[in-house]
Amino acid sequence: MTTRKIVGALLSLIVLFFVPVMTQAETVWEELPEEADVEPDKTWTIEFNTPINQATLQENIYVKTLDDGKYIPTYDVSEDGKKVVVHPPEDGYVSSGYYKLVVENDISSDKGKQMDQGYEKNFSIKSYEKPVIEEKPVLSTGTVTADVLNVRAEPNASSKKLGSLSRGDVVDVYDFEDFWTEIEFNGQKAYVHKTYMKLRKAGGTAVEGQRIVIDAGHGDHDPGAQSWGAQEKEINLDVSLRVAERLKALGATPILTRDTDQFLTLQGRVEYAQEVRGDLFVSIHANAASPGAKGSEVFYDSRKLSNVEEGRALAGYIQRKLVDIAGMYDRGVKDNNFYVIHYNTLPSVLVELGFMTNSGDFEKLTSNYYRDLYAQAITEGIVDYYEAEVN
Ligand SMILES: [Zn+2]
Repeated sequence: MTTRKIVGALLSLIVLFFVPVMTQAETVWEELPEEADVEPDKTWTIEFNTPINQATLQENIYVKTLDDGKYIPTYDVSEDGKKVVVHPPEDGYVSSGYYKLVVENDISSDKGKQMDQGYEKNFSIKSYEKPVIEEKPVLSTGTVTADVLNVRAEPNASSKKLGSLSRGDVVDVYDFEDFWTEIEFNGQKAYVHKTYMKLRKAGGTAVEGQRIVIDAGHGDHDPGAQSWGAQEKEINLDVSLRVAERLKALGATPILTRDTDQFLTLQGRVEYAQEVRGDLFVSIHANAASPGAKGSEVFYDSRKLSNVEEGRALAGYIQRKLVDIAGMYDRGVKDNNFYVIHYNTLPSVLVELGFMTNSGDFEKLTSNYYRDLYAQAITEGIVDYYEAEVN
């Protein structure tokens, strides 16, 4: 359809006169000049010479169609009660359609005087092509996690800004293009960046299709912490592989930064998460300190540029499960700008499973049974995060 800017413009003026009520058997009609090739979103303005009683407008102004159908329009009445603006149907008048605007004489003035005649005006709509609306199925719903999320005309950050969404807004997603999701905005196709939305597959479970990047800390010549002959890099990798397996079983798409004893730079890990278009980033580590230090802690970064709240929430869910499921001492959720979470645009956390330098924790970290519980705890924390509402 064409622009609706003409709403409110006085495109036609019908001046109606009131005379004292007379008893009439039939309405006398005055035919107003016919108009052809009218815009489909035409508004008609009817002007009376005296304020009208608005209660008498109802059903006495309407539009007839050729097949004797009737469209009861919505209308606005001016402050002085003398002008009535008649709106077109929501989808506009039909292309090449013939219509008759009818003003019945049952309308009366605010003094109770009735019109002595009715008015009719024939008009035809110009021929136009209706824009084809693509019927696309909804793939996912997305809840906005940024305070302000720009809506773009094209799937790139330099394209025209159509408006914005706010944290907690929920939109239907029709397609994905790289990091961009196709949505509908004010009746037109538009795009928002998926990093700032919590997505859920239509009809799926909370984690279905989620691209969760699992980052096993350290590797190869970087062993991480070492204690009593064990190396952190091995614990991290084993627990990461188990998390990936569990996530996969739940329908998620786990993506490991490394699945072998291999070295990766911190920057390489962040870039990889970006490259694979991840939805979430979880780095897995084990700690070392004095023998008395023990327990699990999960870090988020309050100074990163995006998804701080999401990182904080995810950290909380994982930490709770590590305490509940693996029976770890609760060191709480902590705020730290570790490289892999600070430079990550995704909701990101860094998990410290326990202390390799504490005998109790060491026993768990090197136990097949407990490694499985760690993996279960991290997986369930991720599920809890996805099941939670954005608030
Ligand atoms: Zn580490």
